[in-house]
Amino acid sequence: MTHRYYVPEMLSEGGPLLLPTSEAHHARKVMRVRVGDTIELFDGQGNVAAARIAEIDKREIVCDVEPARADEPASVGAATFGIGLPKGDRAKFLVEKLTELGVAHCTPLQCEHSPWAPSDGAIEKWQRAVVEACKQSGRNRLLQIDPVVSAGDWLSRPDAAGTLRLIAHPAAAAGGEHSVAIESIFASDGGAATKGRPIEIAVGPEGGFTSEEIAVAIDAGWQVVDLGRRVYRIETAAMVMAALAIHR
Ligand code: SAH
Repeated sequence: MTHRYYVPEMLSEGGPLLLPTSEAHHARKVMRVRVGDTIELFDGQGNVAAARIAEIDKREIVCDVEPARADEPASVGAATFGIGLPKGDRAKFLVEKLTELGVAHCTPLQCEHSPWAPSDGAIEKWQRAVVEACKQSGRNRLLQIDPVVSAGDWLSRPDAAGTLRLIAHPAAAAGGEHSVAIESIFASDGGAATKGRPIEIAVGPEGGFTSEEIAVAIDAGWQVVDLGRRVYRIETAAMVMAALAIHR
């Protein structure tokens, strides 16, 4: 596998380039690169460039970079997520998986049942997890993590025409009346009705969405969906929804 490094300020025309400090550290200490090695750089905005290590010294690594090219597989299933994120390593794990699965945006939601508000430090940690997952998976455009928003505000934003909005909520919690089974959205017609449409997905915190949050969502055009009779952890529900959205 080609070693990949994240260089947000990559020059499109190529030329000599100093690797950012943290990437140079990783290249030297972990990957043990040598002069002449071929590596790949990506800028997190969909561009990649091949490069060769030209100089290595104690602090810096210089490489010769070829002109950049746009290379991000068509994001057919590109999805926007709003999630009542869990804490600590569970949130980091989830962000990593959403990056691998090709989710475009993730907004951490402050829900009525959220026991905590993510700090700036937590969001920075998740952003680092996004970069690592992009390096490993070959993704060239970063998953964008937006600032924390209250679930009510996020769910009631006006939607762009044609957007499919799905809010995951167990049927038992919904009382059943508004909720539809996930199969009826994605599988019954082979996904034809959902293909190519922008998609927004909401997943609640461990305590679930409140009936008020669900009512706000329904008013704003969200479809309440049920994922079956088991109650999943936040991560599981989000990964199932991401996989369905990406492979529809
Ligand atoms: N105790 C909560 C469940 C929370 S699970 C309740 O009964 O509502 C965390 C989140 O995962 C939920 O808010 C929902 O968005 C999603 N989820 C988990 N299992 C689900 C299921 N079977 N159907 C739909 N959504 C589910």
